[in-house]
Amino acid sequence: MNKTLDRNSTQVTEEELAAHLASAQVPALVMLTAHVTGDASVLRDEWRPNLKTLPLSGLDPETEAAARSRCFELLAPFLATQHEWAAVPGEPLRRKLVTWLMGGENEDAQAIAQVAFTPNKVDPRRPDWTLDSAAPDSALNAVVIGAGFSGLLAGLRLKQAGVPFKIIEKSVGVGGTWWENTYPDCRTDVRSHIYTYSFVQHDWETHYGRQDRIHGYLHQFAADNGLLEHMVFGTEVTATRWDQETGTWTLETKTAQGVGETIESNIVVSAVGQLNRPSIPKLPGLDTFDGPVVHSAQWDHGIDFTNKRVVVIGTGASALQFAPAVAKVAEQVTIFQRSAPWLRPTPVLRQEIENGERWLLINLNQYRAYYRFSIFLPRLIGNLPAATVDPDFPPTEVSVSAANEALRQELTAYLEEQAGDDEELRKQIIPNYPPAAKRIICDDGTWVKTLKRDNVRLVSQGVNRIDKDGVWLGDEHVPADIILLGTGFKASDFLLPMSVAGIDGKDLHETWGIDASAYLGVTLPGYPNFFCMYGPNTNTVVHGNLVFFLECQANYIIDAVKTLATGGHRSLDLRDDVFAAYDKEIVAESAKRTWGWSKTHSWYMNAEGRSTIMWPLPARNYFERTSKVRTEDYKLS
Ligand code: NAP
Repeated sequence: MNKTLDRNSTQVTEEELAAHLASAQVPALVMLTAHVTGDASVLRDEWRPNLKTLPLSGLDPETEAAARSRCFELLAPFLATQHEWAAVPGEPLRRKLVTWLMGGENEDAQAIAQVAFTPNKVDPRRPDWTLDSAAPDSALNAVVIGAGFSGLLAGLRLKQAGVPFKIIEKSVGVGGTWWENTYPDCRTDVRSHIYTYSFVQHDWETHYGRQDRIHGYLHQFAADNGLLEHMVFGTEVTATRWDQETGTWTLETKTAQGVGETIESNIVVSAVGQLNRPSIPKLPGLDTFDGPVVHSAQWDHGIDFTNKRVVVIGTGASALQFAPAVAKVAEQVTIFQRSAPWLRPTPVLRQEIENGERWLLINLNQYRAYYRFSIFLPRLIGNLPAATVDPDFPPTEVSVSAANEALRQELTAYLEEQAGDDEELRKQIIPNYPPAAKRIICDDGTWVKTLKRDNVRLVSQGVNRIDKDGVWLGDEHVPADIILLGTGFKASDFLLPMSVAGIDGKDLHETWGIDASAYLGVTLPGYPNFFCMYGPNTNTVVHGNLVFFLECQANYIIDAVKTLATGGHRSLDLRDDVFAAYDKEIVAESAKRTWGWSKTHSWYMNAEGRSTIMWPLPARNYFERTSKVRTEDYKLS
């Protein structure tokens, strides 16, 4: 038995390892080989992957075979020895890896790459201080509101820094959106290995994680990190009020049974999410319908759809997952589409990870780190040019720039191919707005196949009215037993229904009106020591990764807490002029992007057409601005 590349203690023979490596994706294998052997000659131009197919190389089979064979030849001596190598690539190698992967010099990618190579349990952004050592006399404490992806991370960072905290969660379990959304086939449309905290990797079964598995991952994360004992479940924060004299927030809470309590805390982290208040459309007669009306986020698992006539309203990311599952058993499904979604070809969307590769991902930490790196970095850099308006193009509701037009043609070809010679369907499924004006939905062909089923009908017009046993479509009555609403969420109503009263009792929702905004999505003038995670303008459409953005926010918040603690300050309050300049910048930058420009319906825009959801700049800009609190941006007292 040889000591092998395996860093997770399972020992395998060289032959067995060779067999597993045959399943490796070539881009990750090439980078792993350069790392382990120190031989960067494998970073050849002809073995560079296609950025669109990653983690697959997109190379032809002969080229792949040549790359694989050379990598194995170089790796072989290392497989049979106890040779040690650096856990993370040094800067010179990292630069070469990034240049090779991205296909040339890319300073945005180089900057982000500092935190992009993340073997399991390597956590470069763990706080480098603790309250005990930095400010032993400090009495700072914190409350985190919400136990989803954001709140758990905030909790961990506070725990690592030794700041006493509680996490208050209205549900009776962790997970946030992954607790609430349980509809059939609910899964993420972000690759599993980048839909995890960078420093806590996981053995995913599928390329795109299913809801129950993501929920399991988050629960395990909370348990493993001792967060469960900080949880107050089944309790909602209804109001928070700042007291400038004492430097404390007073939080009013209420349990589902109506029992109220008051909690005091110096720091509040609002991690309440964006997508948890269902948007129920005001359709005439909806309340007169006799059968069940179910929103995707409030699924009723008691309903049996077998042989039922079902109406689905909405064709967003949620409906595109549950409607195909329902159509398999229902007698008839009528789908009302207001706008057709753009679909991104994603063949492995519902596929399991093949065994050999899964073995590598579990057992070879550094393979997994490069596999992740190969998906993460290109995704972070993304394709912002394809979502940027070129005033000289000129932009229209078809496309907004040459790059956007190229993307439109590519995505149109995908839809046309699937529609085949069904002219009517083709007209219905090709969107009439530019790509990236709203979320592009991952698809493996299931959606159009569903629309082609004999028991499915796609209707591209609004519901006129609803009566007790169906839906009216002009003069036609469509009988229905069940109405399913895939109509999304009130994403722009940040922090509602919780009331937040800052300095002098100023109500946050009155301050905002309809236009929620926060500095870097995190802080607001007049609301000291109040931090948002996943706040306004922190989502991305073609140029980011949600979990990475959350890690940036947690990093910024914990640095602000450090500033408070080490300076002996009671409060940290954003300066008005800093906020005003930032807000102006975000409005101006948003207008340059497809989602800020297009007039199509989208949850990326609020009712007055302001983009309160999306981060409009490159991801690097967010990473750098959140890497450290600039104390000059704040009034410290
Ligand atoms: P959504 O994207 O907002 O889609 C809502 C759908 O309902 C749209 O088709 C919308 O049409 C339609 N609609 C809304 N109000 C309507 C009305 N009054 N009459 C007729 N149609 C109406 O909501 P979602 O599908 O729940 O997804 C929300 C977000 O959650 C996603 O964008 C994504 O970020 C996340 N999500 C992710 C996944 C995943 O990872 N796979 C799955 C589910 C959700 P218009 O397009 O014309 O507005």
